[in-house]
Amino acid sequence: MILKVLLVIGVITIVYFMFFKKKNISTSSKKNKKTDKTNDMVECANCSVYCDIDEAILSNANYYCSKECIAEAS
Ligand SMILES: [Zn+2]
Repeated sequence: MILKVLLVIGVITIVYFMFFKKKNISTSSKKNKKTDKTNDMVECANCSVYCDIDEAILSNANYYCSKECIAEAS
């Protein structure tokens, strides 16, 4: 009877640690995802098209998607 109880406790402990380990892995992967660079999108002041902030052109405190839009806006 005592052996059976110890066996059950042992199984519960193993399952608990397996779950705990799995949880740690998932949280660490989540952390990695969070540190990934997320590109900000900016709206073109002329045609209202959203483009990557790295590709957008800043002119007169406004973002534009292309040089054509800057020419049209000015
Ligand atoms: Zn534009």
